[in-house]
Amino acid sequence: MKNGQASVDIAIVGAGPAGLCMAAALADFGCSVVVIDPASAEQLAAPAFDGREIALTHASRRRLQALGVWSQIEPGDVSPLRDAWVFDRDDPTPLAISHQDGRSEQLGFLVPNHAIRQAAFAACPDTIKAASLFGRRVVQVDQGDSRHRLTLDDGSSLEATLVIAADSRHSATRRAFGIAARQRDFGRSMLVCRMALERDHEQVAWEWFGADRTLALLPINGGLGSAVITRPHAEIQALAALEASAFNEAVTELYQQRLGRMTLASERCVYPLVGVWPDRLVAPGFAAVGDAAVGMHPVTAHGFNLGLASVEILAESLQRSQNGGPFVARPSALAAYQRRHRRTALPMYLATSAVVGLYTRQGPVSSLLRRAALHGAHRLRPFRRLIASQLTGKSPLG
Ligand SMILES: Cc1cc2nc3c(=O)[nH]c(=O)nc-3n(C[C@H](O)[C@H](O)[C@H](O)COP(=O)(O)OP(=O)(O)OC[C@H]3O[C@@H](n4cnc5c(N)ncnc54)[C@H](O)[C@@H]3O)c2cc1C
Repeated sequence: MKNGQASVDIAIVGAGPAGLCMAAALADFGCSVVVIDPASAEQLAAPAFDGREIALTHASRRRLQALGVWSQIEPGDVSPLRDAWVFDRDDPTPLAISHQDGRSEQLGFLVPNHAIRQAAFAACPDTIKAASLFGRRVVQVDQGDSRHRLTLDDGSSLEATLVIAADSRHSATRRAFGIAARQRDFGRSMLVCRMALERDHEQVAWEWFGADRTLALLPINGGLGSAVITRPHAEIQALAALEASAFNEAVTELYQQRLGRMTLASERCVYPLVGVWPDRLVAPGFAAVGDAAVGMHPVTAHGFNLGLASVEILAESLQRSQNGGPFVARPSALAAYQRRHRRTALPMYLATSAVVGLYTRQGPVSSLLRRAALHGAHRLRPFRRLIASQLTGKSPLG
């Protein structure tokens, strides 16, 4: 075992943004922490573009600032998200959520996922990085009474008092702790890529719910937009395989020239859409964070925002239960984490599933409901303020 360290207080499985932020949150705990991930340190230090542009709320920015991650993000990588407009089919009246509804200069911030990952790796404390096991994957978990044993793909193993699963929505670590999860395959895939736009996006995020597709356009600095196209998997694969000029034609047509001609400006990335809701987030000496705690459909852009909340809540719950002695993962602290995180995540998960259901179902009833929902919401300023205030963190009461 590297550094002769075969026993640690906390082992974090997964060095995605949630796992690395968790490591940063544990920096001052005074306990030994390792992160394990199949990617090498070099790959984690310079992750590749993956098409995702992450819409962050003001609360998430504050959390990233507190973890020392925000200051590691290049300012040019942060695109302002001023307003959001949501359209139903060809109805010209959108549900317009303005920054003024949120009593802030902008509703949120768009940062490419690879830039968040890079910044989170840079902010991960050097002591944790030095002890970590990069380039290795956890292949087996054996639960013990007070410590758990993790076996890695190079045959080595280590023991940990607390295992934190940050290995994404289909978490094998969570499964190894006997935790079942409900999955919902939405039967759709999402294609994401950057497009150069002929017209100014004015920092507005657009979302169109069409008869057979959902389209979004996220405003990126430099006259770019992130195209987000949701269709059945085979159609997304066909779109992704088109030669660039045919793709430009097809996307410009899909977006009905609303932002003029659109020209491919990045590689295209495809994600199958599956929501995951685990039965529990904790077990003795175990907790799940990030997508391993709740796997959201990306349409409402909550995934990493909830991931950051999970990191903050788990760190706070653990911190409160320490009394200056050796590290312990008290069941009461883990239970408190589960309770608090679920209180935040459940309404988001249910609301997102309802939105996806409403916009995936065809037929006159769904169509009427969609129209009524958007028109009603548009007319009701308090409702728009409520949505906007969730993004900006300002009171909706003015
Ligand atoms: C198209 C798209 C758009 C999105 N847009 C938004 C948005 O606008 N706003 C928002 O908040 N969220 C958004 N999300 C969600 C966001 O991307 C995720 O919530 C976030 O990336 C999850 O981070 P994570 O660290 O939990 O998981 P991941 O990033 O999946 O990282 C998991 C890590 O675990 C490692 N791992 C897996 N198995 C093992 C093992 N056995 N041993 C060791 N390591 C292992 C993997 O190598 C990986 O590094 C979007 C998602 C998609 C797909």
